Amino acid sequence: MSIQPVLNDVAAPGSDRQSVVSFRDIAKDYGAFKAVSTMSLDIRRGELVCLLGPSGCGKTTTLRMLAGFIDPTHGQILIDGTDVTKVPAYKRDVGIVFQNYALFPHMTVAKNVEYGLNNIGMKKKDRRDRVEEMLSRVELLHLQDRYPRALSGGQQQRVALARALALQPKVLLLDEPFSNLDAQLRVRLREDLHGLIRSLDMTTVFVTHDQEEALTLADRVVVMNQGKVEQIGTPEEIYDAPATRFVAEFIGSCSLLEGHFDNQCGFLSDAGLALPVTGRSGKAIAAIRPEYIRKADEMPGAASYPAIVEASEYLGATTRLQIRLGGEKLLMDARFPVGQKPNPGDELSVAIDPAGIRFVPAKT
Ligand code: ATP
Repeated sequence: MSIQPVLNDVAAPGSDRQSVVSFRDIAKDYGAFKAVSTMSLDIRRGELVCLLGPSGCGKTTTLRMLAGFIDPTHGQILIDGTDVTKVPAYKRDVGIVFQNYALFPHMTVAKNVEYGLNNIGMKKKDRRDRVEEMLSRVELLHLQDRYPRALSGGQQQRVALARALALQPKVLLLDEPFSNLDAQLRVRLREDLHGLIRSLDMTTVFVTHDQEEALTLADRVVVMNQGKVEQIGTPEEIYDAPATRFVAEFIGSCSLLEGHFDNQCGFLSDAGLALPVTGRSGKAIAAIRPEYIRKADEMPGAASYPAIVEASEYLGATTRLQIRLGGEKLLMDARFPVGQKPNPGDELSVAIDPAGIRFVPAKT
């Protein structure tokens, strides 16, 4: 089944947040291979949009089409209402931070940031002021005379950011901006970057395969898979209301139960587990996040099911259990008093919170 993304978002009534970037039926083929299938998307001023998906899903190709490095096979790209589809990269008014930062090794920090300003013929005094302003923004003014080799990964990233922002682009593009950094630095720089982009009200598109990065940074996430857009939504929407099986599986953890709606049972999984839902028909897949399966005594009044624990993993705040309910295997997160964590083979009475049961199409 083809997924038709809900796109062309319009700004909220009364909002002056018009689109800065518009993809109109954009696609990229390499011979018979569709790297990016037809997609449309409007990005509002100041919005932070993330292209998220596994390796090879087409996210970098999409970013590069917007940057002007790859020509789309068909479709149009608009920046601030102007069709830039045939406009070369250097004239598109986009700032780019590459995955490896691509700093000029023989230039100081200040010269790196100044580089693009030279190219547009800005006067020396104005260039100096702009470099100073940008380096202050990223808190690197004190390192302006250093060379990139004498900077940490995080500092290099900030120089690349200052260089991209110095030209005051209409759109900022970030290609896997945190992939070269260690885990702790990633989290800290994520917060810094978020604050900086917000303070500049900069329209930003970034690419990542890291869902945590997408969920914490983005206003909207475009989930891609094999060149197709699976869903576009806020982080809450893609986590809480996945539109497809792929999104349910790719974002967070989820138990998926194939089955059909049944007049008597509600939803009946193929392995015989009945879920109390009403008003639907046909085949579907029930998607249940681990936090919606509880110990039965935590949900008095709810239908309870006898389960067998198959595996348990202590995660600190919670314990992740793999349980068997009839013929279905499910994941649940629960808290247990110290020393009372269940072991494989133990019986456990569980309840499924109806508020956490979602359905996605059976065939996607
Ligand atoms: P990654 O996270 O690994 O960078 P991605 O989602 O960014 O993955 P893309 O770089 O957009 O993926 O590539 C999408 C698909 O297009 C991949 O299957 C890739 O092999 C293919 N592709 C990219 N460039 C070319 C090319 N020049 N010729 C043929 N196929 C290409």
